[in-house]
Amino acid sequence: MWNITEVALQLPTSTASDRLLQPLWDYLLFQHFTLVSSPFFPVLLAFSSYVIFRVPFTILDVLGEISSLFKYKIQKERRPTIMPMLRTLGTDDLYNHLVFVLPAVLITNVVMPTPPIPAVAPTVWELISDGLGVLLIFDAQYFFWHLVHHKNPHLYRWVYAIHHDYISPFSWSTQHLSAVELTTVGFWSNIDPILLKCHPLTLTVFSIWMSVEEHIGYDLPYSPSHLVPFGLLGGAMAHDIHHQKPSSNFAPFFSHWDRFFGTAVTVKWTKKIDKWCEKVLA
Ligand SMILES: [Zn+2]
Ligand SMILES: [Zn+2]
Repeated sequence: MWNITEVALQLPTSTASDRLLQPLWDYLLFQHFTLVSSPFFPVLLAFSSYVIFRVPFTILDVLGEISSLFKYKIQKERRPTIMPMLRTLGTDDLYNHLVFVLPAVLITNVVMPTPPIPAVAPTVWELISDGLGVLLIFDAQYFFWHLVHHKNPHLYRWVYAIHHDYISPFSWSTQHLSAVELTTVGFWSNIDPILLKCHPLTLTVFSIWMSVEEHIGYDLPYSPSHLVPFGLLGGAMAHDIHHQKPSSNFAPFFSHWDRFFGTAVTVKWTKKIDKWCEKVLA
């Protein structure tokens, strides 16, 4: 067990501009050390992040046409109701985390103990570079896992199909996954930051935000996919297209793997396919 006095003695001498997050990290260490040092901290952080990140998009979905942002809704004719939101909260979030994720964390901690808690906060640069590194590795892992589960009918049926229950994704459908997929994704989310020696603050917050953002069902103008140039990020539009036309856009965050393997479909291509289908069926 850590001694708080030791923590104080180990505090860095770096300038305040280097460690903007130090006050936050100090607060967590000194006020909530038991929580931060717990092997369950990543699970609690992930679970609470998923719930908090969904709140603004839940409000948007409930408001519907009343909201001025409804014009950005991708599939306006398919609006989620409260029932599927409550169902995903009960079965996908609470049940799956209690029954599958927590035991998986316990086993992982026996096999690979978590590294010691650092006394210093990451610099902003470390937070961004480590977060980007984790995103890129997870993106590659999930792209190939996702592609294989779509191509193999048995894997699709028994492991993956549940995620495609919803043709029109909404923020709560992010975690509408089978237990196998949830455990696999959870394992990568835990192991990738450890392999990259990331600070605990970096953890999975970046990838959780991106996962929720790609499922919101709104192509918002200031979303990361519009702010990052050259279409490097897929964003909500790309993943919405995947839920409508599941042979495209397999990568969760970036677009480079889909471009390389020829599975990238943008909204322009989708409109062309729709027009072509209309002509053929007419
Ligand atoms: Zn999805
Ligand atoms: Zn899929």
